[in-house]
Amino acid sequence: MMNYQLTLRSILERGERLFPKKEIVSRTASGIFRYTYAAYGQRTRRLSSALASLGVKRGERVATFAWNHHRHLEAYFAIPCMGAVLHTINIRLSPEHIAYIVNHAEDSILLVDEDLLPVIEKVHDQLSTIRAYVIMTDKPELPETALRPVYSYEQLLEQGDPCYAYPEDIDENAPMGMCYTSATTGNPKGVVYSHRGVFLHSMVFGMADTVGLSENDTTMPIVPMFHANAWGIPFTSVWLGSKQVLPGPAPTPAVLLDLIQQEKVTLAAGVPTVWLGILKGLEEGQYDISSLRAVLCGGAAAPRGMIKAYEETHGIPFIHGYGMTETTPLAISSRLKSYQRSLSQDEVLTIRSKQGILVPGLEMRIVGQNGDVAWDGEEMGELLLRGPWIASEYYNDHRSAEAFVDGWLHTGDVAVIDEEGIVKLVDRTKDLIKSGGEWISSVDLENALMAHPAVFEASVVGIPHPKWDERPVAFVVLKAANRESVEKQELLDFLKGQFAKWWLPDDVVFLEEIPKTSVGKFMKRSLREQYKDHLVSSVQ
Ligand code: ADP
Repeated sequence: MMNYQLTLRSILERGERLFPKKEIVSRTASGIFRYTYAAYGQRTRRLSSALASLGVKRGERVATFAWNHHRHLEAYFAIPCMGAVLHTINIRLSPEHIAYIVNHAEDSILLVDEDLLPVIEKVHDQLSTIRAYVIMTDKPELPETALRPVYSYEQLLEQGDPCYAYPEDIDENAPMGMCYTSATTGNPKGVVYSHRGVFLHSMVFGMADTVGLSENDTTMPIVPMFHANAWGIPFTSVWLGSKQVLPGPAPTPAVLLDLIQQEKVTLAAGVPTVWLGILKGLEEGQYDISSLRAVLCGGAAAPRGMIKAYEETHGIPFIHGYGMTETTPLAISSRLKSYQRSLSQDEVLTIRSKQGILVPGLEMRIVGQNGDVAWDGEEMGELLLRGPWIASEYYNDHRSAEAFVDGWLHTGDVAVIDEEGIVKLVDRTKDLIKSGGEWISSVDLENALMAHPAVFEASVVGIPHPKWDERPVAFVVLKAANRESVEKQELLDFLKGQFAKWWLPDDVVFLEEIPKTSVGKFMKRSLREQYKDHLVSSVQ
């Protein structure tokens, strides 16, 4: 066989040459922008040539600070195809963390959305390696800014070469991108993606038994493009020529629902809080979302009640995926095996609400106190992964040694596996609740609470307890219509039949909103911190 290098160049070339008429739809600050893959290819090459004229060399990190839109998609290919490294920065990080990661990655150029300029202006004097800022805006003139030197993205593209030829000698193991992931404490940790890893991941994303993305699809990544490659959807979509819909700045559920309806989106992807918000939007307004052939949900456990609402009320199949920034990200996905389709609705729902089975191409172990756990759905252990799109270290970071041991990524997730090989995540190690020496899964309790018809969102965390070490406390947001009518006891009674008595939360605290992380997951750390003394007085 040829020693063919698996790089992003051939992915881009396939998209632009074989699907020149297919569309990319992008919501920007000034409205909807539409163009074809042919035009996309030309603008992407213009961007590469403009970056080359700014002196960008192979291996150099070029950062983006942007929402999901067509310019970001251009950067997704323009930067890696010329041999540079696409560093997507999480726009919701604190100023200190933004400054840390830009300096740590040694980014040389920063592409930034106009509406996000104030965030970068706050830290620009600490960014020691940036030698040019490029502002992405729909307006003809550049806004007033303290950043220097500063260029207009559109003007750079005008001067760029639409036929810029990409090098053919890029090694498949060369870095193509990087993304920082939050750490429990301390600075974020950098994950570097290789061309080969993204190439193989994109291939697996298109397999019928994983997500099955295809040319027929109209894809909409709601998951931000700064978070774990928007789960790889832009890469696979370009390769297969799928129509893409990019939802732009600060999309609300109403904006997302309008886009699904108008553009006939078939596959949209987001974290559970996004899908909960969309369910609420569906209850409040009239939308036709029958174009959706699947809802892809990952990043945190999907509550059973929500899966049921999509599958049974709205008739939309639900694909539950598991992954991490360190895993490019797809590692596990929930698809029914052929003989499981005849199971009862309830049994199917139980399978759907587990994370699923390992995707082809990866290897997995679940290791408990006595080595690999039994496949009995009971014995818990830590999930370990390895494979061609699993990171092997954190970028220049001594914390690598904690997570990468003997060639395996230690995920920090506690899981069980049943005789079918279906993985169920019990909890993150740090979120498991330790009560009187026994473990309680916060995920199981919150999923049960979110199945109550009056509950919009619920998060359960372990709060220090003088006698039991920790006890669960539930934080609940009720649906607007139930705010006055539902009391704590009703929710505890609802849980009573489902769990052992010692699993029941010691308290239920009603909130207006549950704090969320920068990527929309429940921020348990902040609840733990804020309520750390909550149970002290109750134990006398
Ligand atoms: P962060 O740590 O900032 O949340 P990641 O997106 O990399 O960044 O998080 C990966 C983690 O998200 C996993 O280790 C796991 O705990 C959780 N996770 C991802 N997908 C799922 C899922 N389908 N079900 C439960 N937890 C999930």
